[in-house]
Amino acid sequence: MKSQFTPRALKAFQRRLLGWFRTHRRDLPWRASRDPYRVWVAEIMLQQTRIAAVLPYYHRFLKNFHTVESLARAPQDKVLRLWSGLGYYSRARNLHRAAKGIVARHEGKFPPTLEAALALPGIGRYTAAAVLSIAYDVPLAVLDGNVARVLARLGAIRGDLRAPRRWRQLGDTADSLLARSAPGDWNQALMELGETVCTPQAPRCGACPVARWCRARALNLTREIPAPRSKRAAVKIRIAAAILRDPRGRTILVRDPGAHDDVLFSRMWQFPAVEVAREPKPELAKHLSEILNVDAASLDLEALPAARHGVTFRNITLLPFLARVQNLPKRPRTRVVALSNLSRLPVSSATHKIAAAALLP
Ligand code: SF4
Repeated sequence: MKSQFTPRALKAFQRRLLGWFRTHRRDLPWRASRDPYRVWVAEIMLQQTRIAAVLPYYHRFLKNFHTVESLARAPQDKVLRLWSGLGYYSRARNLHRAAKGIVARHEGKFPPTLEAALALPGIGRYTAAAVLSIAYDVPLAVLDGNVARVLARLGAIRGDLRAPRRWRQLGDTADSLLARSAPGDWNQALMELGETVCTPQAPRCGACPVARWCRARALNLTREIPAPRSKRAAVKIRIAAAILRDPRGRTILVRDPGAHDDVLFSRMWQFPAVEVAREPKPELAKHLSEILNVDAASLDLEALPAARHGVTFRNITLLPFLARVQNLPKRPRTRVVALSNLSRLPVSSATHKIAAAALLP
């Protein structure tokens, strides 16, 4: 791909894209300053998550943790609670651990070198390049899905872009095109182009500032590139969950290392739950007697409407069961909370879906 640009053409290409970005850049809160902490939080939140979904979380998170020190000092439950609903909770756990590392080893300042940034939990090559280029002008090119799509179309590169060799080639291309005088703007310009103009399904080539250099457009291949990715076959999973409710409308949540707690409940507070094969009710009753040490035969488990929940390739059916009890069991590593106010604790969206079934009129 480098070969499509003479040094002079490359300069013109860079000037054109940077000029477009400076005129058309969206006014996003993390662009208001080049504070590495704010850029870093945004980059972590934006991983696998749309900008519109991130915005309210970003504001709330920074209102509560306006510096890396305040994030490092916070209890993990508070960090997870403020992340609750955004998904992929390992991001929040790593962010929190990295904040502690930055305070302990880097005097509260995001480290300015690639090596030190990569040593922090949850920081990969992409995030390091994004933060360092935007906050510190370090000349590192980013490569994410948006940038890869733009580069593949510009160079008419066919095939699965995530195939390791092709991804490495795209990384080399991104390096060779980088505008070293303005790496932060350059990276954001390519990402912005991918998000707003060179979109996956229907690129708006008529509005594209770099259309004249685009091989896919010249060859009428914009719909074929990038090639669709081969999808992993969906796995069907059924999870039965128990909502024990006392007369005051309170319920009990547990840390239950059983039913896909990492992907579904993100190792946060959840209803007692178990993956079921055939008969959800008896299998759930048996699980309850094991983890809460209750007499399952005394519980009247009432089936509530099922809910669907997708996590990557898993197609999950949530089967909530309600059990009305006079007294909630008192056990270690449990929490009693009002069913209508689960947000007091860090819980995943699957737990909210289960609770919603019990709150239906
Ligand atoms: S011309 Fe079209 S396909 Fe090529 S980079 Fe621009 S928007 Fe993408």
